[in-house]
Amino acid sequence: MAKTVCGRFAPTPSGRMHLGNVFCALLAWLSAKKQGGSITLRIEDLDKPRCPDRNAQLLEDDLHWLGLDWDTGGSSGGKDAPYCQSQRFAIYTEYFARLQKQGFTYPCFCNRAELHAAQAPHLSDGRVLYAGTCRQLTPAERQQKALSRQPSQRLLLPNTTVSFTDGHYGPQQQNLAAECGDIILQRSDGVYAYQLAVVIDDALMGVTEVVRGCDLLSSTPQQLYLYRLLGFAPPRFFHVPLLTAPDGRRLAKRDHDLDLGCLRQRFSDSRHVIGVLAFLAGLLPKPQPLSPAQLLPLFDWQKVPQKNISVSEEILNLL
Ligand code: GLU
Repeated sequence: MAKTVCGRFAPTPSGRMHLGNVFCALLAWLSAKKQGGSITLRIEDLDKPRCPDRNAQLLEDDLHWLGLDWDTGGSSGGKDAPYCQSQRFAIYTEYFARLQKQGFTYPCFCNRAELHAAQAPHLSDGRVLYAGTCRQLTPAERQQKALSRQPSQRLLLPNTTVSFTDGHYGPQQQNLAAECGDIILQRSDGVYAYQLAVVIDDALMGVTEVVRGCDLLSSTPQQLYLYRLLGFAPPRFFHVPLLTAPDGRRLAKRDHDLDLGCLRQRFSDSRHVIGVLAFLAGLLPKPQPLSPAQLLPLFDWQKVPQKNISVSEEILNLL
């Protein structure tokens, strides 16, 4: 029998929820609910100083206002609690230790300047491909370096191509060594990296469907590799296009007039905002106030564009 679908909201509450986050959450909700599935809310507050508790409370309140409910997680709790990444340190430590024991990790002592050295190859998204400088250090060299610097911990990524089929963008592939490079699993201050935490959390929380922005499409192969190493069954991935301003730049948290604080001041009824997003997602021929539940019969991945969506002045004026 097919497993029941479990989707998720995985926001990072570093600020107020934004139009782009709502777009993604709406599609995650519609996709899971259309299949009779459930939604889990996980608060991705690994970087705790940037994600105060108050933001997570506001986020839950904003999701309620939008009509985007969830079945488990957040402050409602559930069997896989805790649902805040900042409270899951011991769980990450356990899985990290397994990888370490199997020899898949190594300490990296490089500082920022060394990482950004001119000769370091840059990836298409601007990240620097790690040259593997600390891969070959001998145990004695590691010991020596550890006297003056706390290392970060990296995952050894092999010269392997990972392929997968994205539910929205179709077949994808990436050579881990050439296009990704050894990623950081734990920062030198001890904080575990998103790439590790997201895999462990989605697997342990029984998530079967991940819907998220297409800026994370290129992270998926390295996450799939971690699924394999940790012995977890991966979920299905659906990446969604990003919302961009008329000048082409991505709508971001700094566009304060499009965060939920401002939108809620302007509209008493959230269906107005949902209707605009449904239009941008190709689900409505024109913006029309509807609730997420009212959109369910209209939802179909085929209708959602693949290209990033430029939000015109005309639409911005409706918000
Ligand atoms: N926490 C990430 C964000 O808010 C999303 C990560 C994910 O969906 O895998 O952008």
